[in-house]
Amino acid sequence: MDHPTCAQCGYELSGLAAAGRCPECGRGYDLDTGQGTTARRQPWLVRHIRTLSLLGLAMVILGCSGLLSLVGRNAVSLVLCGLLFAGVTLAATLLSYLSEKEDQRKAEG
Ligand SMILES: [Zn+2]
Repeated sequence: MDHPTCAQCGYELSGLAAAGRCPECGRGYDLDTGQGTTARRQPWLVRHIRTLSLLGLAMVILGCSGLLSLVGRNAVSLVLCGLLFAGVTLAATLLSYLSEKEDQRKAEG
């Protein structure tokens, strides 16, 4: 197993004794048999949940400012404001994605 983690809490067990207890939650593990561990990669959705949340937030902001501009009197500034916030959120999305890629690269060595 490349990167065994605790089956209970996901604590990274590589570099620890071949068998023992998880320092994080105390669950027993055995790296030789794989008991109490999991080397399964997280699904893509889980790995990128933060990025996806930020992306969703940006879409919501855009959508709301678009809807508000339809009913509001100051449509142009509403849209500009929405674009500004959505832009900031999209920048955060990009940073989040890059850091997730970096984490993944580190995890895969
Ligand atoms: Zn644990």
